[in-house]
Amino acid sequence: MTRDPRYDILFEPVQIGPVTSKNRFYQVPHCNGMGRVYPDSMIAMRGMKAEGGWGIIATEQVDFHPTGDVTPYTEARFWDDRDVPMLAGMCNAVHEHGALAALELVHNGQDTGNAYSREVPIGPMHRPVSWNNHPVQARAMDREDIRAYRRWHRNAAVRAKKAGFDCVVVYAGHDGAMPSHFLARRHNQRMDEYGGSLENRLRFYRELLEDTLDAVGDTMGVIARFAVDEMMGPDGLEWENEGKDAIEMMAELPHMWDVNVSDWNNDSMTSRFAPEAYQERYVEFVKQVTTKPVASVGRYTSPDTMVSAIRRGIVDLIGAARPSIADPFLPRKIEEGRPEDIRECIGCNICAAWNNFSAPSRCTQNPSFGEEWRKGWHPEKIRPKESEAKILIVGAGPAGLEAARALGQRGYSVTLADARSVAGGRVSRESALPNLNAWARVRDYRLGQIKPMTNVELYLKSTLTQEHILEFGAEHIALATGATWRRDGVGRTLRAALSGADSGRSFSPDDIMDGIRPPKGSVVVFDDDHYYMGSVMAELLASEGYKVALATPELQVASWTEYTLEQGHIERRLLALGVEILARHVVTRVEQGHIVMTNTLTGETVERDGALVPVTMRLPNDDLYHALQAMPDKLAAAGIRSLRRIGDCFGPATIAAAVYEGRRYAEEFDTIVDPDGVPFKTVTHQLEMGG
Ligand code: ADP
Ligand code: SF4
Repeated sequence: MTRDPRYDILFEPVQIGPVTSKNRFYQVPHCNGMGRVYPDSMIAMRGMKAEGGWGIIATEQVDFHPTGDVTPYTEARFWDDRDVPMLAGMCNAVHEHGALAALELVHNGQDTGNAYSREVPIGPMHRPVSWNNHPVQARAMDREDIRAYRRWHRNAAVRAKKAGFDCVVVYAGHDGAMPSHFLARRHNQRMDEYGGSLENRLRFYRELLEDTLDAVGDTMGVIARFAVDEMMGPDGLEWENEGKDAIEMMAELPHMWDVNVSDWNNDSMTSRFAPEAYQERYVEFVKQVTTKPVASVGRYTSPDTMVSAIRRGIVDLIGAARPSIADPFLPRKIEEGRPEDIRECIGCNICAAWNNFSAPSRCTQNPSFGEEWRKGWHPEKIRPKESEAKILIVGAGPAGLEAARALGQRGYSVTLADARSVAGGRVSRESALPNLNAWARVRDYRLGQIKPMTNVELYLKSTLTQEHILEFGAEHIALATGATWRRDGVGRTLRAALSGADSGRSFSPDDIMDGIRPPKGSVVVFDDDHYYMGSVMAELLASEGYKVALATPELQVASWTEYTLEQGHIERRLLALGVEILARHVVTRVEQGHIVMTNTLTGETVERDGALVPVTMRLPNDDLYHALQAMPDKLAAAGIRSLRRIGDCFGPATIAAAVYEGRRYAEEFDTIVDPDGVPFKTVTHQLEMGG
């Protein structure tokens, strides 16, 4: 297949100072929780994107000095020459496929507590360190400190060249970098030439750009990554005011602009809060004030939207972090004339979440992300079948669909059956909840892939019993039958069922998704899950006119969504909908017409009218498994060689986990996996001590 000529523009080369990107696809810097701790994983992950056709592949944030030590976070490190080989490895992997490698130099200034390096933190002013409320202060940099900082930055740019990079990204974004701290009025009230007027507050960043251009700009592209709006009104940078003025003042200085909004919670908004291309209105002025190429992000996954952004003169390069994670082969699929194969990012921020608690990142849509080296998984390829075995998968949720897709790709003969009239399981149910419609892409991508496979059959409205399974004639059975929300309040906090949480007073999220509703009036959502479901239930019921109170034993609504960068957005939305928030409260009794809650610290009780919606935990739908497992003779007589549970039926978790388990089943069901071994590659670091 050849590419559609209307997408030709995406494949035009772009000159970035002395280097040229082969196309307009720019994988912007993105953290991934692998970095310096799991460098092989990081290198293979970046190389995969180059193989998939991205023109420029950037690193995550790369910390270039011990005074900007990001412990406990896992980023790349570039403190001295000993860190060169790891990043050189990435450059090699990227260059192998003709892409440019870019290194993002970062120092998080007053944010970092330097817990590992024990250096005294530094910033524009004396200020308490911001990350984790760490009990230390950043000290105000004097001119000598600024000179030293500029030297460290310059040296790091030279090291970047040594490592083999083609571009250096000079970073002033996310309210998280030293130059952005210097730029922000609220962080910088210095009285010297680095404080006061915009020109003065911008001086520090300008000097870093000039230093970088001077040191390596003759051979490397120097990219300015700059947030033009902090989405906090006049208290921060606004694109109409200082954001625009700042770009105008440096318009022709860098070789390329990479512009976005700040902070990270706003830059990487989930689909629950922002649609594709949502940053355009903040950044569209940039191309009018500079002749240099401009890139921006906005979760672009549609080639038509990308072409439109270029044709309308908003950007020259399509920046992408999440779309490149969900589909490292996005550019190649467009180039090969098969855009319908794009695995579109659903905007859930599971990738960000794992990074945010310092674990290797993973992706809901792309189960091979982070497994390229560790498990040798490829997002587009999988080894062919090893036998003529037939596989029956029961349940077409994310686990069943992914297992069927991957087994189908391997060439196996697969039957996928689901009781419901629509495929997708929880993904179909949950994507019908307020603002989660993009999640349906998990289903739609897989259905689209399965459709042309003649070796995969999908049967809907087919509730399978143990008899059906025994009679079916498949040698391998995977039960992907999902899980069901409890209605009795048991979960993290309550270890025994709530008295009264039955007899029509308690409605689980599954009840609500089935269209069942409490009597009109008031309702208490008890969120002991802390991810999205509690807040989504509150949002849905409030928008339907219920008077909603949300009780949580935590201090914040949906506390885990701090990791997905959504917590503030969620709580703000619930408050706007009039939801009452009862933090540090646990439901202790359900009585006729009202719910009793107890403060987890004081033991004082409060009551609210209405019914209960407990969002606490799910139980696997594994009756079928246990029934079959209890009859080994019948299984053997039916020729069934393996019976496995996958996805939520095995361990209720995220949709990402279900997709991963589906892929894992397809990869491993015909191999011998050592149950006592580690199921992936690891490395032992060379030790100076020990032995
Ligand atoms: P997962 O996240 O693990 O993929 P889901 O809950 O999303 O799980 O999907 C489970 C699917 O299994 C649902 O669509 C449900 O209708 C289906 N299912 C459950 N039990 C049976 C059964 N006995 N026969 C056919 N389909 C079933
Ligand atoms: Fe997109 Fe979610 Fe994958 Fe991140 S985890 S790339 S947001 S689908």
